[in-house]
Amino acid sequence: MNTLIETDARAVRVLLIEDDEDDFVLTRDLLADSRRSAFQLDWVTSYEEGLHEISRDAHDLYLVDYRLGERDGLEILRQAGQLGITAPLILLTGQGDGDVDLAAMRAGAADYLIKGKIDAPLLERSIRYALEQSRTLRALRQTALRDALTDLPNRALFMDRLARAIEMQRRHRESLFAVLFLDLDRFKVVNDSLGHFLGDELLIAVAKRLSAMARATDTIARLGGDEFAMLIEGIDHVADAVRIAQRIQDEILVPFHIDGHEIFTSVSIGIALSTTGYERPQDVLRDSDIAMYRAKAHGKARHEVFDTAMHQRTIELLRFETDLRRAIERGELRVHYQPIVSLRDGKLAGFEALVRWQRGAELISATEIVSVAEETGLIVPIGEWVLRAALRQLREWDGELHMHVNLSARQLLQPNVVAIVADALDESGIAPERLHLEVTESVLIDNAEAAAELLRDLRNIRVGLSLDDFGTGYSSLSSLRQFPFDMLKIDRSFLLDADARRGDDIVRTISSLAQLLGMQVTVEGLETPEQVERMRTIGIEFAQGFFFGMPVAPEELR
Ligand code: C2E
Ligand code: MG
Ligand code: MG
Repeated sequence: MNTLIETDARAVRVLLIEDDEDDFVLTRDLLADSRRSAFQLDWVTSYEEGLHEISRDAHDLYLVDYRLGERDGLEILRQAGQLGITAPLILLTGQGDGDVDLAAMRAGAADYLIKGKIDAPLLERSIRYALEQSRTLRALRQTALRDALTDLPNRALFMDRLARAIEMQRRHRESLFAVLFLDLDRFKVVNDSLGHFLGDELLIAVAKRLSAMARATDTIARLGGDEFAMLIEGIDHVADAVRIAQRIQDEILVPFHIDGHEIFTSVSIGIALSTTGYERPQDVLRDSDIAMYRAKAHGKARHEVFDTAMHQRTIELLRFETDLRRAIERGELRVHYQPIVSLRDGKLAGFEALVRWQRGAELISATEIVSVAEETGLIVPIGEWVLRAALRQLREWDGELHMHVNLSARQLLQPNVVAIVADALDESGIAPERLHLEVTESVLIDNAEAAAELLRDLRNIRVGLSLDDFGTGYSSLSSLRQFPFDMLKIDRSFLLDADARRGDDIVRTISSLAQLLGMQVTVEGLETPEQVERMRTIGIEFAQGFFFGMPVAPEELR
């Protein structure tokens, strides 16, 4: 129930938790009589409703009846305290409840008023005092939760946020958090040699740099001395935390200029991850601290992840990534070419370019490269390199052959993708019609609009567009109308259907619909003469697969 006593933009929102209607009417009239403030009074009649409202935290102040049926108003006070509600509560007691005053204050009441002895000025004054007091308390708490030197959250606030993160994690299992425990290396030397003033200035500068790197949802705290902690929430992957640690380390390595001094420092970082399954914030902090000590022991200026198994996996992934980064510069990437043939006349129609990495004696597959490169964004330079290499290769082969080059989601969604493709075509002198870019369905589903626009732009510079691995995703043929593809590549999974007839039927249906939409059709992964015969019977135009040729290095192609 809601009674607006006086409409005012700054009306104080009051909730009355009271089971007696007469008392509600009385309170409403008293508030209406008040001269200096405007009140908006809401009313609920039970303990449960009251608690529910309090947990919504939508009022400036609560008036709580001491006797609420079976329950007692003190319970509400205690619950509100536990919910961390900062709005004040005033307890309303009956005439005979004289001795609850102390209990009320202990339970967190801002004031208590005895019913029947309340008049309008008293009620108004009590409310104004309570509001003022809670404002002061809030301000005090604010300073109590900040580190005075750096103005970062202090340990108490950090632990509070961490406790909340644990709670969140318990409810939404899919979201991860990480705690980074940071300790400056050799800070004591700075402090002793340059003095405390510069030491303090350095801490402030470090705090600033850390804050500048943080997202709005991160919490960076100063725990004391030269120790900082960072709470990172909402990450998808363990590797994200490690990457952030790496970035922090790089950032801190950049020299600080303080008061005419150039100060070099580094930081050791310990990482604890929510995947360990923590229940108490102090345990997370402890493990990140242990990991930080391990980082120091292993030579400082580095990071360690607490969980060893995961640590191993993360490190391997990052090493792979680092090596892959260098692979481009070192010229270790290769392009292998797999023939695409016409089933109509058996002639070679073109090639698909597939990336490989010659890592020592080992040849690393495209799937391995692409999965890591997609995640880290490395796919953009790699993809561009493949594109230019493939077009250069095509120039050496004569005639009408086409070149198919894969474009991953990340690449397609680059704003300058069209410029890059146009430039690569320019550089090679190849007619755009001879280049086919292959995109998989998932891109279209996750980023339909952006993808459609970029594909149209590519279409406008006259390059061919193929939809790759069709049938493995979710798109229906009719939804493809909005995308300007001119070729559909049917995934090999249909060839493997235990019931060959059914597989063929599906391929036939897809193929005839594709033709209706003006698209050519290629079937991928043909390995046996029977499969080739089946596809020829259906009337499939183009085919690709081990039967016709494996992907090989250009020098192995005749
Ligand atoms: P894709 O584009 O569907 O390429 C065809 C894949 O099927 C290739 O695997 C090829 O070796 C394999 N394949 C061809 N014929 C047969 C066959 O008869 N039987 C079987 N079982 N497999 C066959 P590959 O080279 O390992 O590439 C895997 C995927 O990695 C590609 O699938 C493509 O999506 C991606 N990829 C490869 N190179 C690049 C690249 O340069 N850039 C991007 N973004 N992705 C690439
Ligand atoms: Mg492909
Ligand atoms: Mg494919």
